[in-house]
Amino acid sequence: MNDFQKELCQNLSKYCWDTIEPHMEHDDAEGKFRMEFFKGLGDYGVAGVTLPEEYGGAGLSYIDYCYVLEEISKVSVPYAVTVSVSSMVQSILNEYGSKSQKEKFLLPLTSGEEIGAFALSESHSGSDAAALKTTARKVEGGYLLNGTKMWITSGGIAKTYIVMARTGGEGAKGVSAFIVRDGDKGFSFGKAEKKMGWKTSPTRELIFENCFVADENLLLGEGKGFTVAMGGLDRGRVAIAAIGVGCAQRALDEAMKYSLSRQQFKQSIFDFQGLQFMLADMALEVESSRLLVHSAASSIDHSKPNSKLCSMAKLKATDTAMKVTTDAVQVLGGVGYTAEYPVERFMRDAKVLQIVEGTNQIQRVVIARHLKKEYEHHA
Ligand SMILES: Cc1cc2nc3c(=O)[nH]c(=O)nc-3n(C[C@H](O)[C@H](O)[C@H](O)COP(=O)(O)OP(=O)(O)OC[C@H]3O[C@@H](n4cnc5c(N)ncnc54)[C@H](O)[C@@H]3O)c2cc1C
Repeated sequence: MNDFQKELCQNLSKYCWDTIEPHMEHDDAEGKFRMEFFKGLGDYGVAGVTLPEEYGGAGLSYIDYCYVLEEISKVSVPYAVTVSVSSMVQSILNEYGSKSQKEKFLLPLTSGEEIGAFALSESHSGSDAAALKTTARKVEGGYLLNGTKMWITSGGIAKTYIVMARTGGEGAKGVSAFIVRDGDKGFSFGKAEKKMGWKTSPTRELIFENCFVADENLLLGEGKGFTVAMGGLDRGRVAIAAIGVGCAQRALDEAMKYSLSRQQFKQSIFDFQGLQFMLADMALEVESSRLLVHSAASSIDHSKPNSKLCSMAKLKATDTAMKVTTDAVQVLGGVGYTAEYPVERFMRDAKVLQIVEGTNQIQRVVIARHLKKEYEHHA
């Protein structure tokens, strides 16, 4: 970590611990999202870390962004997720949007005034995203969207939505991407999901009933929706991986503190070699995940995103988050299972990291596909 990154993380960490942390147990129990916390993160310049300064971003590297996400997720995985999804929307607009689309939609997102959301999944099409059924029918001056999106992070709190809908035939080539705004006629919100974790991050259905979207809000062109959706994916996966590292690091920190202070059999429980080996393995998993995440982030910084590495980082870091948070609950024993200590919350928040941005089975599919390409000429 360089001096700039150290200073950035120290300042951000102070804000997160002083302002967000004291509310997390309560807000997790109530499922309460606070816009003022998100705006507060925006004031630290972390709502649009990697976006160019021209559009209000901080113009920093992807590795800087990973440190930022790690720091936020040590206090709150859901707020880190809100930042990461909104950032993914910004990256998509920046990469595929026209000049006027960028000028119109990016500034409120990079400043943290508004939140962005990404709507690809539907009830019958999650991993098989190209099977989506939401339609966009061409009419004069624009398109009419009809269909329902499922499990959309920040549904209801976001203002700008990137929505994938079918303008053509079956499969990926028939999909287009649209910019839809909260308040557009024919766009409403369905049920809010009751979830195991990510309680302070709303997840909702989006309903489109003859929702008119003007031609100027089509991204890139008809049939380019999958290019848009998949273009953001490598970055999105590394962001989720960085959140996994932060989540696991917090669990390790809590487990270490507790194991050094808790006495059983007239000694601290840390002094039992059974626990030392467990904690050593936890630290090893966290550090090796961080290295893989930074390696994948570096490939993005060098404009050569390595999809295999991005999938490996997502797979490793999120499996680590699940394993390390589960082990942290074990280290704390009975109190680890109660809301008196935060480790059970981090364990619940870790689980869905293995599911979003492509499940961890899908990451293995991606890795295997790359391996086949690399090795098939040896066969
Ligand atoms: C809290 C939360 C937030 C979310 N946020 C968003 C969002 O903001 N935007 C959005 O578009 N979506 C979002 N999603 C949806 C998420 O991306 C999907 O849940 C995910 O892609 C998996 O799809 P699915 O749930 O339909 O599972 P399925 O695709 O039905 O998979 C079920 C099981 O089958 C396995 N499987 C499927 N295909 C294969 C295969 N080829 N090989 C091996 N195993 C396979 C999966 O790994 C999984 O274990 C969110 C989901 C949750 C729970």
